[in-house]
Amino acid sequence: MIIEQAEVIVTSPDRNFVTLRLTTDDGLSGLGDATLNGRELAVVAYLREHVVPLLLGRDAHRIEDTWQFLYRSAYWRRGPVTMAAIAAVDMALWDLKGKAAGMPVYQLLGGASRTGLLAYGHASGRDLPELFDSIRAHLEQGYRAVRVQTGVPGLKSIYGIASNATHQAGVRYDHEPAQRGARPHEEDWDTRAYLRHVPSVFEAVRGEFGPELPLLHDAHHRLTPIQAAQLGKSLEPYDLFWLEDATPAENQEALRLVRQHTTTPLAIGEIFNTVWDYQQIIREQLIDYVRSAVTHTGGITHLRRVLDYAAQYQIKSGMHGPTDISPVGMAAALHLGLAIHNFGIQEYMKHGTRTDAVFQQSFTWKDGHLHPGDRPGLGVDLDTDEAGKYPYEQAYLPYNRLADGTVHDW
Ligand SMILES: [Mg+2]
Repeated sequence: MIIEQAEVIVTSPDRNFVTLRLTTDDGLSGLGDATLNGRELAVVAYLREHVVPLLLGRDAHRIEDTWQFLYRSAYWRRGPVTMAAIAAVDMALWDLKGKAAGMPVYQLLGGASRTGLLAYGHASGRDLPELFDSIRAHLEQGYRAVRVQTGVPGLKSIYGIASNATHQAGVRYDHEPAQRGARPHEEDWDTRAYLRHVPSVFEAVRGEFGPELPLLHDAHHRLTPIQAAQLGKSLEPYDLFWLEDATPAENQEALRLVRQHTTTPLAIGEIFNTVWDYQQIIREQLIDYVRSAVTHTGGITHLRRVLDYAAQYQIKSGMHGPTDISPVGMAAALHLGLAIHNFGIQEYMKHGTRTDAVFQQSFTWKDGHLHPGDRPGLGVDLDTDEAGKYPYEQAYLPYNRLADGTVHDW
């Protein structure tokens, strides 16, 4: 199973996606997701210029060796661009091995540890009536866990509120923060207004929907440690499944202070890309859920390593799964999530119809649970004719400023 061809395919059906396709001398092909939201072409260049030439002629069965070779031989380690590129190669090799073995990837990872993966969707609204409608719509779609994001009185445009998000192609995602255009969209932010408002929203949601529904919330790295502690404490009566990205994730020690003050479970890590980013917070049990995506954390091989380390401390998976994780990256997450013992929950936002036409998928969605399906490999096919209809379009995530003009964490 020698790699004869390695193609980097860029397509933008509802948003930009970068996919690596490896083809072997025995005619099999494997897919890997290399999408890095807002910085897609950096990964394309890394793959095309520096990785593809090294892959040709290699034995596709040697997944671990290829991972170590790409990671160590570059000398320059870690970082989102490098790790997304390595992730794409790793996923494509697992896809190939599954096809060669005639088995779905989760079987190669040890087989299923459960019958399906609990998934949560993104409910949001500028005010309570809009938010309640969004939660009801998610429940009707079968979701059994919901992330709740809300507008804040006095702020015009906030990340995570579907009603704020318009898509030029006219395709409505529930939440798609990256907007097409040459420059990022600017939003505003006021932490004190947010901290005053959010607990009342969760009180209202619990009042309307009762105590059982798992509720999640994302603070998107915007708080200082003491503000995060304050928020976690004020949300305790509403029994959150987790509070996500309460503080900027680079400072692992910040979580120690947050932890000392609140029993609200903490999730972090969607912008991490290696096990070393988690070293302290896992060892000191400062978090409850690992947010990394397969796509941004060096693939199935490396994220499995992170999650096995986390399992020693009863820390579970909560893999990142917004729409910028392509259907290939989502399939990899589902195979890994089905196999590991310490699965927690999977973020799941439905892709648009154009994306589903480009990437034909085999996963199932039933009673709020996902299953990757039983086709050999990852179970995703890429229709290159469809993909060719949608060339890359520049798009950026927004950013925000405080009232005095200061750029704030996003
Ligand atoms: Mg998040």
